[in-house]
Amino acid sequence: MRRGRIPLVPYTMFQKEKKRKWRNHPFNIANWSYDETTDHFVCPNGQNVTFRYMSKRTDRYGFTRDFKVYESESCDDCPLRSLCTKAEEGRHRQVRVNVSWEEQKQQVKDLLSDQKTGKIYAKRKIDVEPVFGNLKANLRFTRFSVRGKAKVKRELGFILMAVNLRKWLTRSIARGAI
Ligand code: SF4
Repeated sequence: MRRGRIPLVPYTMFQKEKKRKWRNHPFNIANWSYDETTDHFVCPNGQNVTFRYMSKRTDRYGFTRDFKVYESESCDDCPLRSLCTKAEEGRHRQVRVNVSWEEQKQQVKDLLSDQKTGKIYAKRKIDVEPVFGNLKANLRFTRFSVRGKAKVKRELGFILMAVNLRKWLTRSIARGAI
């Protein structure tokens, strides 16, 4: 948004999270009730899954993420245990929540479900993305062979001209015009 543009970019799980199976999955913490004042979830067995501590994870690119770690008060004797957790016997289910990622996901969801911005995204999926998909998957154009804005613009111009010529040719053949 800093450049006056609204990013309409779904995250990897966006489509999956919209599916009924995901939204009704009983062991997915996104479907558990959450109490903000005491910062705890309630699992399907009625146990409080409470905030315990903060943890950090650094990926291989050196990017560090902060997680809130929650733990069930007791998973002992839970009849749902085998469906819910792979935690060793005597340990309780833990869940990690990346708060800033969840906030960003919520922003994306709000934008994509908003009538105005959602319409723009739906149009882009139909009008624009197939062109790039075709370029990359069918025509194997995945890299520019030149550097610099002006040269890249020119190369892209040639490529799109070739795509349009292919389209024109296919349609002309189908119409029997050539
Ligand atoms: S295994 Fe633990 S967290 Fe999962 S449903 Fe049972 S008590 Fe709740």
